[in-house]
Amino acid sequence: MRYLVLTDIHANLEALEACLSDAAARGYQRALVLGDLVGYGADPNDVIARVRALDPLAIVRGNHDKVACGLEPAEGFNAVARSAARWTFDVLTPEYRAWLAALPQGPHAVDTLVEICHGSPFDEDAYIFDELDALRALKAAVRPLCLFGHTHYPATFELSDGAFDSIGPAVTAESFITLEDGSRYLVNPGSVGQPRDGDPRAAYAIVDVEDQRVELFRVFYDVEKAQTKVVKAGLPDVLAQRLGVGR
Ligand code: ZN
Repeated sequence: MRYLVLTDIHANLEALEACLSDAAARGYQRALVLGDLVGYGADPNDVIARVRALDPLAIVRGNHDKVACGLEPAEGFNAVARSAARWTFDVLTPEYRAWLAALPQGPHAVDTLVEICHGSPFDEDAYIFDELDALRALKAAVRPLCLFGHTHYPATFELSDGAFDSIGPAVTAESFITLEDGSRYLVNPGSVGQPRDGDPRAAYAIVDVEDQRVELFRVFYDVEKAQTKVVKAGLPDVLAQRLGVGR
């Protein structure tokens, strides 16, 4: 089994399509979606349609999904995120608003190897940046490989024989993590639609269960087209600008 792993698409259709065609060439059977399908980008309805067409084996909601469909207030959001959430709520079709509202909360155990969550396995909205939170997440995880998103920052944390290791984002177009028996892993593939690690390329992963391997990819996409749509939609300009620098 090869799982396609997508997180933090954020209504960026160009980035999503680029990842999907790259992944199709590499081969996968089922998709796992880790939340934040919408918010920030200009194509929430098209992105939801595309994700639904994938018929994901597992999907969990993100904080932006909850706010954009009206399930939660935008109180914790900054002004830009709040304004994007309001815009998204208005343009979403009632059917997709209801679909977002019904998305399950993480964490979710997919099989005996993999579990998925949006923020962390102990709190769907918690950000895992530092090693303390990563260790807490590794201990809370119920599967050897816990996939997460939310920070938009690719990262791998490994707990092996009591030794803790942290591996930052890969600078190349692809990198592989071999999963050792008895070790535990916490992996964020990075964001499809709004990378924040200084690399504007879209990020996604494939998990090969038989080969015990996580494959991490970065893909060029039509950033300018996505930026133009953001500006045309009347979303805050800064949301277009940050796509260009990946911050
Ligand atoms: Zn996000």
